[in-house]
Amino acid sequence: MYKTKPICSACGLDMKVHKQGVVVVEMAFNPPSPYCMINADEYVCRNCGHKVIGAYANEPYVYHHHTDFKSKLWELVQDHPELLRVNWEYLPPTQMREDPVAHLQEWLRKEAINA
Ligand SMILES: [Zn+2]
Repeated sequence: MYKTKPICSACGLDMKVHKQGVVVVEMAFNPPSPYCMINADEYVCRNCGHKVIGAYANEPYVYHHHTDFKSKLWELVQDHPELLRVNWEYLPPTQMREDPVAHLQEWLRKEAINA
């Protein structure tokens, strides 16, 4: 297999692993809600400091329709916010949230009220 390590396109250098085992929460639906959670690694360019997420696991480890989805999201938000990354794929850039932890805390709070 050819290497999948990202290269900084601006600097032309291999990017180094900055944080292993981050958890990407993929958002979907309208309004945006968490859809699935998948492990990945965060890379950084040692020259310019640009960061990207890569080295995704083959599959998400939990989806929104699984019974333990909210508890796993809750654990992540409460216990490991430093590992939390969000894919806002379905949001226009102007609506991107600057604080994914606060956004997901609010989502979990509303879900608890509606449960
Ligand atoms: Zn760079």
